[in-house]
Amino acid sequence: MPDNRSTKAFKDSSNPTDGSKNSVSDRGPATAPESSPIAKAHEQIPIESIEAPKNLPAHGVWVYIEQLQGEVAPVSWELMGVGRQLADKLNCPLSGVLLGHDIQPLTELAFQYGADTLYAIDDPMLEPYTNECHSIALVQLCQAHHPEILLIGATTTGRDLSGSVATALRTGLTADCTQLDVDVDNRKLLQTRPAFGGNILATILCRDRWPQMATVRPRVFPEPEKQPHRRGALVWSDLGLDPSRTVMEVVDRILDERTEGYLDEADIIIAGGRGIGSKENFRYVEELAQAIGGMIGASRPAVESGWAPYSHQVGQTGFTVRPKLYIAAGISGAIQHLVGMQNSDVIVAINKDPDAPIFRVATYGIVGDAATILPALTLELGARMHGGPLGNERQL
Ligand SMILES: Cc1cc2nc3c(=O)[nH]c(=O)nc-3n(C[C@H](O)[C@H](O)[C@H](O)COP(=O)(O)OP(=O)(O)OC[C@H]3O[C@@H](n4cnc5c(N)ncnc54)[C@H](O)[C@@H]3O)c2cc1C
Repeated sequence: MPDNRSTKAFKDSSNPTDGSKNSVSDRGPATAPESSPIAKAHEQIPIESIEAPKNLPAHGVWVYIEQLQGEVAPVSWELMGVGRQLADKLNCPLSGVLLGHDIQPLTELAFQYGADTLYAIDDPMLEPYTNECHSIALVQLCQAHHPEILLIGATTTGRDLSGSVATALRTGLTADCTQLDVDVDNRKLLQTRPAFGGNILATILCRDRWPQMATVRPRVFPEPEKQPHRRGALVWSDLGLDPSRTVMEVVDRILDERTEGYLDEADIIIAGGRGIGSKENFRYVEELAQAIGGMIGASRPAVESGWAPYSHQVGQTGFTVRPKLYIAAGISGAIQHLVGMQNSDVIVAINKDPDAPIFRVATYGIVGDAATILPALTLELGARMHGGPLGNERQL
């Protein structure tokens, strides 16, 4: 998975998600044996399906605010932005859910990014994140307040958590949505994502289960503007979990020490595809990126050919990016690539085929050989950026 910034070592070396699945005490074959530690831990919280009536009153749109040691994952605020739009259409409140320890300083941020209400649980057992405690906490809050819609960022943590919570609540979950809207009359969340290998965009509905759950990758939606003076209602709850009955403990945290930054945070990306032709030619992509302070990106064939590492792949099975400038060289514009970059502010496409689909999403198109155009851009833009003979501008 692209978002792999930290790894956690658990005492229980089995997959943490499996643990939470087994947490549903009345689920038949998937139920953990009564005597197992997992079953014991979850006996404390009876997990039941939320069977809301068809004429469900507006219970609101919820956004899970992911935080690690007091730092909020930006995707949470991005979801607040789209959550606000959904809540306004449904004429219901937008709420945040914040779980952790010593989280008081973050509560104001939730309101500033658009939450009307913040449901929060502050407990030492919620720091650092474990699937076990966070899923129990989130399920508890959902059972108490019955949200209609629950949005979670498709980060490593969000993917881990959302599956467990959806399973426990026996509701539907659409992963990696690229668009969200609502059918106002029927109060249904319209969850659009690539399907069948990315060849179509499917809009998925969760017809009679609540909350309707969706995950969205970072940078799919823009971050809303912070409103420093905005306030809302803060609702604290208790976790009420006996530490001696939990089975999962984080014993170490090893942070990924990469220095080059993350592709989904880059403002400028120069991406190369199969049309670049060879690893040797890929240096034209690298040189332009270096000259204008960008990061390299790549289509899947370029990664599979060994021209760029997987951590630079853009698209359905790579990163979703939203830079200010995306230069796509020798990339045809297949839907699996487009879903990862089509929300970039300015897209410049370089392709020798004037009918290449990439030109349909491009702001500017250059028809020609990437091996000629990229070095020319490096010379021209590099000189401008560094105040050379072509000008003194330092900004593109
Ligand atoms: C489930 C699934 C997931 C996938 N996930 C991803 C993903 O995450 N990211 C991704 O990128 N793809 C992904 N793909 C693959 C995707 O379908 C396309 O095959 C891929 O994006 C094509 O890469 P490309 O544009 O580099 O190559 P091509 O489609 O082969 O296009 C090469 C382009 O280069 C142009 N060209 C050739 N020579 C030159 C030249 N000298 N100068 C300029 N232009 C030139 C050609 O005109 C052509 O348009 C996925 C596919 C599937 C089925």
